[in-house]
Amino acid sequence: MNRFGTVFLAFFLMMCSPGIAQDRPAINIPDVLGFKTLTGDLHTHTVFSDGHVWPTIRIEEAWREGIDIIAITDHVESTNLFRLKSVFGDDLEVDREGGFSPDRNRPFEIANEVAVRRDVVALNGVEISRTMPPGHHNAIFLTDANKVNTPHPQWKEAFQAAREQGAFIFWNHPASFSYPETTTLWWEEHSWLHENDMMHGIEVVNGRNYNPVAHQWALEKNLAIIANTDIHGPVGMSYAIHEGEKRTMTIIFAKERSLDSIKEALFARRTMAFFDNKLIGHRDFLDAIFHNSISIESVRRTENGFQVIINNPTDVPFELSRAENNDAALTFFETKLLPAGKQTTIRIYTDNPDSYSRVDLNVIADNLIMAPGEGLPVTLSFIPE
Ligand SMILES: [Zn+2]
Ligand SMILES: [Zn+2]
Repeated sequence: MNRFGTVFLAFFLMMCSPGIAQDRPAINIPDVLGFKTLTGDLHTHTVFSDGHVWPTIRIEEAWREGIDIIAITDHVESTNLFRLKSVFGDDLEVDREGGFSPDRNRPFEIANEVAVRRDVVALNGVEISRTMPPGHHNAIFLTDANKVNTPHPQWKEAFQAAREQGAFIFWNHPASFSYPETTTLWWEEHSWLHENDMMHGIEVVNGRNYNPVAHQWALEKNLAIIANTDIHGPVGMSYAIHEGEKRTMTIIFAKERSLDSIKEALFARRTMAFFDNKLIGHRDFLDAIFHNSISIESVRRTENGFQVIINNPTDVPFELSRAENNDAALTFFETKLLPAGKQTTIRIYTDNPDSYSRVDLNVIADNLIMAPGEGLPVTLSFIPE
């Protein structure tokens, strides 16, 4: 083989090597306040309950999207076993290795084999799905999901069995199955769960539905802010992943990318919701995300003001609007989008730009939500060159 051939072969092998061709994509949101910013979907279904995909697909989807954590949370009470049995009859061997099994740990075990190879953190969970009250709740970090499968009226025993395993438990889609259907109600049963350390979080977002009542409860009752897909079919059928859309997810601020750290972060309520290009979380973390995401590329003094170029290399766009309390001598945008992964030019007009050694613009980041209807106030500070 001549030298060109050798070089070509080396290049070809390099292109084929799994380390290069299969680098895990990542969702670009900066680490903040000394924590690693991890992404998770803590509510997913598979064919083991009423979902439409095999558990391994949940991990492959996550890997392709750059999601760090996936909880497999099939309804603990019902499986597809009986439905499939009626279709396949005796052709379906129920207890075969890797086949359908009434063992509630199987979907996680099957998913986890791939998760370990793909460096996705898989969590063993179930959805405790009882009529309202108390409705549906996910229990994750289980060691034996079967113990949570109690008879329907014995819902307290199901929660206790999960909690005895150290489970993190959160209330799913609190608006569904409420009576009356259009309201979100906090029942006595929820107080019992909350007071007995069996409700640690709440889905503020389920799928594409944001629930401001649940958001308010999360703040008042110190519940972790949770956002999940509750996906049953392939993720790509509900979210335009191929066009860059992100699925609904929970952001978790963990000391390390490990199971123990993720669990610690959830119990410490260091979470945030990310959905529909919005972040819902606590002020300190929202503020840190904003300031760690953007950087000032340049600040040029012009004849009648300033021209500022701002970088936003992250996957979070920032929707800014002008706040009330600004220097009246400065004229600038009413609203401005800092798109994800792009540079944006801002123009500020004033009669005497030379008199400024520093320019402060007070704005509201409307898509960084601290409380229902309340965006994050931030100050953009520029020092002209
Ligand atoms: Zn549910
Ligand atoms: Zn569900």
